Amino acid sequence: MQATWERAGYLTNVTLPRPRVAILGGGPGGYEAALVAAQLGAEVTVVDEDGLGGACVLTDCVPSKTLIESSSTMTSLGRSASLGLQLASGANPVVGVDAPALYARIKALAAAQSYDIAEHVAREGVRIIEARGRLTGPHTIEAAGRTLRADVVLIATGASPRTLPDAQADGERILTCRQIYDLPELPEELIVVGSGVTGAEFASAFQALGSRVTLVSSRERVLPHEDKDAAVVIEGVFRRRGMNVLGKSRAEAVHRKGDSVVVRLADGREVSGTHCLLTVGMVPSTTGIGLDAVGVKTDARGFIEVDRVSRTSVQGVYAAGDCTGVLMLASVAAMQGRIAMWHSLGEAVQPIRLSHVAATIFTDPEIASVGVSQAAVDRGEVDARVVKLPLATNPRAKMGGFRDGFVKVFARLGTGMVLGGVIVAPRASELILSLSIAIEQNLTVEQIAHTFSVYPSLSGSVTEAARSVMEFGDAIV
Ligand SMILES: Cc1cc2nc3c(=O)[nH]c(=O)nc-3n(C[C@H](O)[C@H](O)[C@H](O)COP(=O)(O)OP(=O)(O)OC[C@H]3O[C@@H](n4cnc5c(N)ncnc54)[C@H](O)[C@@H]3O)c2cc1C
Repeated sequence: MQATWERAGYLTNVTLPRPRVAILGGGPGGYEAALVAAQLGAEVTVVDEDGLGGACVLTDCVPSKTLIESSSTMTSLGRSASLGLQLASGANPVVGVDAPALYARIKALAAAQSYDIAEHVAREGVRIIEARGRLTGPHTIEAAGRTLRADVVLIATGASPRTLPDAQADGERILTCRQIYDLPELPEELIVVGSGVTGAEFASAFQALGSRVTLVSSRERVLPHEDKDAAVVIEGVFRRRGMNVLGKSRAEAVHRKGDSVVVRLADGREVSGTHCLLTVGMVPSTTGIGLDAVGVKTDARGFIEVDRVSRTSVQGVYAAGDCTGVLMLASVAAMQGRIAMWHSLGEAVQPIRLSHVAATIFTDPEIASVGVSQAAVDRGEVDARVVKLPLATNPRAKMGGFRDGFVKVFARLGTGMVLGGVIVAPRASELILSLSIAIEQNLTVEQIAHTFSVYPSLSGSVTEAARSVMEFGDAIV
């Protein structure tokens, strides 16, 4: 199929030159855009200093989820006795962690994934330049001593972990999430500062692997920005498994004291451990890349301002992913990048719809959500009927010994249209797809209720929740 720019040339009987696209940053925002642009016949160059796949593949998303695969297996093994299994002789079988092997597997898997992406992108005819680059004009990027000229520029430089003025990472005892896989061992006593998504995921994983974990949360509960019911379940699981959760505790400083670390809280208390992991947010990688010279507007925190088709304040310059701070997810970065290419190369494009984004917090159990939030319903912004079914009543959950979690569905009053959902369950990241499809395709709870689910299955709770909205609607929360 011809791209729009090719068709325009054909209709006017003129052979138009291939549009040139230059992309700064090769994470999901950058490489997914490159694939679309190449498919549309553009001449594409990606400049990246660390490796294709970006921080997503090399240090953040892929490594952390690989770690979590191991920690979830550990949790499953821990349940074996309750399932009538014996791992070894004796009442308390011990499964150890080979930390160097665990970290080596994670890094090897990430490197292999990056290699696969680079190969795929190169196969599509995209030129890759391994170097640091910067904009020198709205249509020029300088990298590896040369100047690339382009009709369209996409900035997708990502973000880096934030530290605190009085808590600087040293890579040995005080760590960011990108340094943890270089440790020689499993942290014995890990203090996680910050209880947002990243903090909760690492706290959950290391607790399962055998570290003694303290989670320092400046807010009343963990995961303060997530569904409250879900956060309450996870905090309950954390505490039951022995995690020391310190609520309303703002960390002010982290210092080393020999082979230990001391975290000083705002109220003067001190917490000590062998290692401290800082998970206090991300800062955009937007300094020193020439934005000022070109006139690309950023907000007060340095994130690039974009509209819903990824345009910046400068014509011909687009931005995608974490450097825009829109929603720091790989799937959103990729979609912003693709949209930028469709728009700039003249294709029909649907502006990004953040209300349709599905996201998961990979704690154990996982929290997956899509669509409207309980908070929006509670504030009266959405007229929705809400049903929440506990996972413990699901037959498959009983068989697996899973008691923590629920399936929650939001449906519009009157029409029964599915507006959103929250699932707290093992592999909730897989279960949420049915609700995502329902939202994207404007399905009603009735249509979900009339869909076959496998018996027994955890997804049976989704169809059951839909039936509950219909049958017992008025009696529901
Ligand atoms: C611990 C952790 C776990 C996460 N888990 C998930 C998850 O499970 N699911 C999910 O959806 N999201 C997850 N995320 C978020 C996800 O990783 C990001 O949203 C995603 O990486 C954003 O992609 P990006 O393309 O914007 O940038 P990045 O992936 O950060 O890539 C940016 C690339 O640009 C390069 N670059 C930067 N500046 C320059 C320059 N001047 N010149 C050349 N190259 C440059 C960098 O080297 C890098 O390769 C996680 C994040 C963290 C921190």
